[in-house]
Amino acid sequence: MRKPIIAGNWKMNNTASQGVALVKELAPLVTEANCDVVVCVPAIDIPAVSEAIKDTNIELGAQNVHFAEKGAYTGEISAEMLKEYGVKYVIIGHSERRQYFGETDETVNKRTLTALAAGLTPIVCVGESLEERETGKTEEVLFTQIRDGLKGIEDLTKIVIAYEPVWAIGTGKTATAEQANETIGYIRKTLGELFCPKCAANVRIQYGGSMNAKNCKELMAMEEIDGGLIGGASLKAPDFSKIVNFDK
Ligand code: PEP
Repeated sequence: MRKPIIAGNWKMNNTASQGVALVKELAPLVTEANCDVVVCVPAIDIPAVSEAIKDTNIELGAQNVHFAEKGAYTGEISAEMLKEYGVKYVIIGHSERRQYFGETDETVNKRTLTALAAGLTPIVCVGESLEERETGKTEEVLFTQIRDGLKGIEDLTKIVIAYEPVWAIGTGKTATAEQANETIGYIRKTLGELFCPKCAANVRIQYGGSMNAKNCKELMAMEEIDGGLIGGASLKAPDFSKIVNFDK
């Protein structure tokens, strides 16, 4: 049985005080959640939000982690630094990091292994661009991202995968529930072939890309979809709470 996980990705939104206000509004709306509820916040918001979600069922996530334990990496944040504030999850390889910050499957792999070694749960993002989908390359692209990005992981069930078609992120265009289900099914099949079938059956795979209060029920009803990684709709507590409460 895979427990659903709904995670908000605030991206570069919300100062620490705005973030605290948001989780304080959110907390009473999600007490009955039957899923893991996570907010992935900007690094500088982590201490304040960590304090604000104590005694709630909201868990904390970061949006990136460096692959080195420590050292001369100006501007970067280590897994140990995140852990000290109770961070449990970390998004790795988001398409915006791949597109704007030179993230590759190799760096995704290094960050993922480091996060796992530190006891963090990586939320590893994969997904194809519009051009790749239109030219029939979706499966090929996903295969490479999975093979190279997840290389060397011993226990797949310690990670979460977010399938995020790049063309659906922040665009208002959602993959249809059938499209998302079929592609996540392909990801699970590939994980079974490259790793182990039992782990593949148990790993949680989210859908991400313009998921919102309106379309979440249909997406979450699909057999292969175990949750959502939510950008825009995670910035307003009423909207995000509706997604968290998709089963009500
Ligand atoms: C995301 O940032 O991972 C995302 C899916 O964004 P949005 O929900 O805004 O498309």
